[in-house]
Amino acid sequence: MDLKENGRHCETAVVDDEPTAGVAGSATEELCARAPVGLLAELTHRCPLQCGYCSNPLELERVNKELSTETWVSVMSQAGAMGILQVHLSGGEPTARKDLEEIVAAASKAGLYSNLITAAVLLNRQRLEGLAARGLDHVQISFQDTDAANAERIGAYPGAQKKKLEVAAWVKELGLPLTVNAPIHRQNIHNVGRYIELALELGAQRLEIAHVQYYGWAYVNRAALIPTYDQTIQSIELVERERERLKGVLTIDMVVPDYYAKRPKPCMGGWGKGFLNITPSGKVLPCHAAETIPGLVFDNVQDRPLLDIWLNSQAFNAFRGTDWMKEPCRSCAFKEIDFGGCRCQAMAITGDARNTDPACALSPYHGEMVAMARSEAALPPTPIVYRNPRNAPGAAKPAARPMAMADS
Ligand code: SF4
Ligand code: SF4
Repeated sequence: MDLKENGRHCETAVVDDEPTAGVAGSATEELCARAPVGLLAELTHRCPLQCGYCSNPLELERVNKELSTETWVSVMSQAGAMGILQVHLSGGEPTARKDLEEIVAAASKAGLYSNLITAAVLLNRQRLEGLAARGLDHVQISFQDTDAANAERIGAYPGAQKKKLEVAAWVKELGLPLTVNAPIHRQNIHNVGRYIELALELGAQRLEIAHVQYYGWAYVNRAALIPTYDQTIQSIELVERERERLKGVLTIDMVVPDYYAKRPKPCMGGWGKGFLNITPSGKVLPCHAAETIPGLVFDNVQDRPLLDIWLNSQAFNAFRGTDWMKEPCRSCAFKEIDFGGCRCQAMAITGDARNTDPACALSPYHGEMVAMARSEAALPPTPIVYRNPRNAPGAAKPAARPMAMADS
């Protein structure tokens, strides 16, 4: 069955011209239907910026462990063959890879919609033109704030804002769709309205108001970043009003913060359901923070075909579906809707990844989590622990500790 009609291009269940290990040939249709929608390709952890909310792990992978060009080209081809629709080329800073052009060309050849997620400071016009010529479909540029001085303090990169604005203008001139990414926290939340103006000024199609999620570096920096409840609600209300006003002009997506929520997000749309993430060294993860959960085994694209990993790896099957759930999720009517929330947040806050995400009001940890957030937000912000290899060992001791409560 050719799934092109469904917007998918999954035609065969073969990888590198061989039937995929662990997959019965007759199961092609089912495999395509179960294929992930998106692949986040972390091409490198190198980045000239040092944002304290970075979603990269505390232990950044070194350049000498990064996958070769050939392996990334093979990954793109495998992703296309298994029915994946979109590849997000990310990092670190993906433009730090000199072979980005070859990876983009491979993604295009495989029929993938490619999105470059970039801080933009390393790009020049000629390179952007070259990427567009090789089939790049979309560019997403992160802005650390709308105020240049504050943005450059948050990202620890002088001169970044001017360069980002310049690159955004080139993106539009080349006719590529542009997304403005706005990571929101207490040090820039007063500028949510200004981000909307900026996205309009730049001619962006989409603005992503992404309230920081407190895992990895952001967990370490939570007391520096978490806004108050009132600031959070005001920012959400503003975005909802502006969404109505700008219908048809600008799409505004919002990642809402967990700490003041009553119900969790269906994190990653459900574990192992629609997305996978590949680290610079080739480890395949169900989400970018999955390495914070002890006991999971992550297979590497250098050792096993991507489809085999997606279907059969221990890490993907650990929290697939609902069988792994404990109470209160196990007997909850929402369990197929939010899948119990985020496993990494459950791990970080409660010390057990199988617990209900404490963002849920039904979690016995919820009240303490909200109280912790409110008390941290009420105090002056702590200094930012910048994301760099030097800070990683100290950062391994998070300011916030798992709560000492019995399992649910
Ligand atoms: S969040 Fe900041 S430090 Fe992390 S990859 Fe993006 S630009 Fe670099
Ligand atoms: S108890 Fe679990 S399934 Fe029910 S709403 Fe909370 S997180 Fe979702």
